[in-house]
Amino acid sequence: MITIRHVGILRVPRLIPLRSSLQFRFKSDDSKKNNKDNKDLASKSDSNNDVSEFNIKPATSKSAPAPIDATNSGLDRLIKKNNKPYIPKLQHQRVAYEYPGLPNEDDFTKSQKPKLTTRWSRYIPKILTVIAAGWGVYAIKVWMYAPEKGAESKELLDPAEFHKFIVTHKEQIDNDHYLIELVPKFDHWKYSFHTNYEEKSLWNGDRIWSVDVKQPDIMVVRSYTPLPLLFMKSEYTRTGEKKPLLKVVENDSGDYDRNGVMCLYVKRYNDGEVSKYITNKEVGEELELRGPRIEYKFPYHPLKKFHTRPMFRDLPSKIESENLLDHIKTINDLPDFDNINFFAAGTGIAPILQVLLSRNPYRGFVNIHYSAQKPGELKPLERFMFFLEKLDRVKIHYHYDSDKKSILSKKDISPPTEPNYISPMRIEDETPNSESDNLKLRLDILQGQEKQDQKSNIITERAPRYENAIQQALITSNQPKKGASLSIVCGPEGYIDYVAGPKDLAQNEQGEVKGLLGNKKWDSKNVFKL
Ligand SMILES: Cc1cc2nc3c(=O)[nH]c(=O)nc-3n(C[C@H](O)[C@H](O)[C@H](O)COP(=O)(O)OP(=O)(O)OC[C@H]3O[C@@H](n4cnc5c(N)ncnc54)[C@H](O)[C@@H]3O)c2cc1C
Repeated sequence: MITIRHVGILRVPRLIPLRSSLQFRFKSDDSKKNNKDNKDLASKSDSNNDVSEFNIKPATSKSAPAPIDATNSGLDRLIKKNNKPYIPKLQHQRVAYEYPGLPNEDDFTKSQKPKLTTRWSRYIPKILTVIAAGWGVYAIKVWMYAPEKGAESKELLDPAEFHKFIVTHKEQIDNDHYLIELVPKFDHWKYSFHTNYEEKSLWNGDRIWSVDVKQPDIMVVRSYTPLPLLFMKSEYTRTGEKKPLLKVVENDSGDYDRNGVMCLYVKRYNDGEVSKYITNKEVGEELELRGPRIEYKFPYHPLKKFHTRPMFRDLPSKIESENLLDHIKTINDLPDFDNINFFAAGTGIAPILQVLLSRNPYRGFVNIHYSAQKPGELKPLERFMFFLEKLDRVKIHYHYDSDKKSILSKKDISPPTEPNYISPMRIEDETPNSESDNLKLRLDILQGQEKQDQKSNIITERAPRYENAIQQALITSNQPKKGASLSIVCGPEGYIDYVAGPKDLAQNEQGEVKGLLGNKKWDSKNVFKL
């Protein structure tokens, strides 16, 4: 039924154009075969013209199929035409091997088997792979690469263990003087740094400290004095266009004291084991440091409780003034800080620079006697010394071997003055009292201390106000300075002998005070040999 309607209805409008196109093609083709086909097609199309004989009844409705009058339609003739018998193929070539579906079964009607997996189960192989890889890495790290010494230390420096530092800059000042910038290789120490900054920060001008540097090839160590300095690097310094500027680590800030950076000021001895080893190091190489080793602690002074000197900064105009100092002294009835002498030769200047450039610098006035072979050994450090003088914190006396008249001699040394304040411990040490007297003294000191604590809260007078430390120094530098009551000597053995008499190295003791200081009545109570 469907076939009949297709033939009868759809082919009718196509017949005429088909014939004309075919005729056109056949005219251009002169082969016999095509003439024959042409005739066949022409006869076929003539028979198809018979469709026009079909009586098509008018439709009963628009959607109804076109009814055909079967009585006089010639359909019987059409059906009989080409009505070949069905001959099954003897051989069938299969192209697909799927098992044919059951009758009325398709993908949608197939019964769904219950899922045995959850939606997470596809992640399980990935998770297992990650765990296995992590375990593998951990195992390799633990068994093959044991952590380096100091890598997991909570301290930037440890007196009992060497920690690795990287050389990040090396500046040669002259033939045998270098500044070496170092940063810690590991940063585990940072985790606990801010929780106890006062304890953790290395830079505290209340003491002089050093580090041991190891020469691992011969297992020898030597002491060196770190300075709170760093080299400011930029793209210009990396390309070599400019030299990096030496700056002070402003160690009251929260950047882990500039990530633990420090500088060593080293004199190279060509036959010196460790100084040669250090100065041979190139940027990126490692050095091993152990410390800090406290070399000297400044004596106690009650004013320390009430007043801290603002730390040195690269821009001196940014250093705060000490406006309230005089006022605090008056209302607490406290003496001034003691002034000191510091005798340094060569790299022996490093300890006092460490103290003056650190947080909590020494609060008294410092006379620095600096001896060297010739000018120029300090070059990049001279800027800081100049500003320290401008701040009226120090006076530097230069003594050069190259200028015989300037060499340090007895004329440069004054006798000691009495300290403004003698600590109770020192009184106890120096006065041979009975035990009960000492007890009474301690009680008096404690009571006196309490009285001072009460007084400290009462501020009645107005103190002079200065904009910054430089402005204050303009006034104070004109005021006379009291003599020094403490002398510290630092330098090579020969220099120490000359200034203060030899150290008792065998006993690791200070030894009797002799030399220039001994001649001017200085003694073991007021001289310290570093
Ligand atoms: C607390 C402290 C802090 C120090 N800080 C610094 C510092 O910041 N910078 C610095 O460069 N040095 C500093 N030193 C000195 C340093 O520790 C070494 O002594 C010095 O670097 C030489 O060691 P070396 O292994 O190279 O020489 P060594 O192998 O010990 O000696 C080689 C030769 O040099 C001579 N020599 C050794 N040391 C001196 C010297 N100081 N003066 C003259 N001749 C010497 C020896 O007599 C010998 O002939 C400090 C020393 C101490 C105790």
